[in-house]
Amino acid sequence: MKVFITGGAGFIGSHLTEALLNAGHSVTIADNYSTSTPANLDRVRNNPALTVYEMDIVEESQAVDRLIKECDAVIHLAAAVGVEMVVKNPVHTITTNVHGTENILTSAAKYGKRTIIASTSEVYGKSGNEKFSESDDLLIGSPYNSRWCYASSKLLDEFYLMAFHKEAGLPGTVVRFFNTVGPRQTGRYGMVIPRFVAQALKNEPLTVYGDGEQSRCFCHVADVVRALMLLIDNKESIGNIYNIGSQELVSIKELAQEVIKRTNSSSEIKVIPYEVAYAAGFEDMRRRFPDTSKINALTGWTPKHTLADIIDDVAESLR
Ligand code: UDP
Repeated sequence: MKVFITGGAGFIGSHLTEALLNAGHSVTIADNYSTSTPANLDRVRNNPALTVYEMDIVEESQAVDRLIKECDAVIHLAAAVGVEMVVKNPVHTITTNVHGTENILTSAAKYGKRTIIASTSEVYGKSGNEKFSESDDLLIGSPYNSRWCYASSKLLDEFYLMAFHKEAGLPGTVVRFFNTVGPRQTGRYGMVIPRFVAQALKNEPLTVYGDGEQSRCFCHVADVVRALMLLIDNKESIGNIYNIGSQELVSIKELAQEVIKRTNSSSEIKVIPYEVAYAAGFEDMRRRFPDTSKINALTGWTPKHTLADIIDDVAESLR
């Protein structure tokens, strides 16, 4: 297969690119390096089956159209990401996530190409449900709080894909990622694990925001890539939405303690109020736990890496 990946030089995209090349596919990437780096592709740079274009998918819709016409499948990962980035740059977030996806889906529908787009567990918003399932109603916060522009823009992407599927027969699938982590993820845009591990390796305080009782499930990028590889080949996933995440729930305070333990660090934990970390009125999600029975029933997928594996892998890559 010829696979076109937007954001292919990013954290998830570069791992997916390696997996596709290893499986014998050819890969074409469009990436504007806004939150990624060419170095993420160092391990595959000389592979003749890889073509990389520095390209902005919002601005360069004609070039995007040509690349989609030439490929067999599209995996759309390019997006504005990271809670801190989103809170600071809401206009950029909306423009990238809405118009970028609009360009991708318009061309993919025109040529009838197999398409997977990345969405996020953020779309569940402030839901108090114990587990989040794909057909749940969603509880996104007010536009007065710019955090929610990320969830809203990604949710619009999901509606867009479903609309193109219904009206134009687009063979498309949505995936909702729950806190994907692993080597090459940067802490620059807010992500907690690369931050905590980097702080622990320097024996600096680990910055726990809020009361640290908020909880998340962290999924290793290798498991996420495996899920994408299973879905792309599966026609039954067309017109559907899938959660992709781990089942190991951990509070952020416990996470900080585990990182300190596994890295043999002498760091302490420093609690920072949300309004200092982000902005006044910032709203966090208290708990985020995915129901992954849908992708499991379809493909047999379950994550193989534990949180301990993840911390060890990230620590090794940062050392
Ligand atoms: N967080 C933290 N310290 C940091 C960065 C993040 O305590 O230095 C918290 C953040 O407030 C959230 C959780 O860790 O409750 C996960 O944050 P991340 O940005 O990684 O992902 P999110 O789940 O918010 O999308």
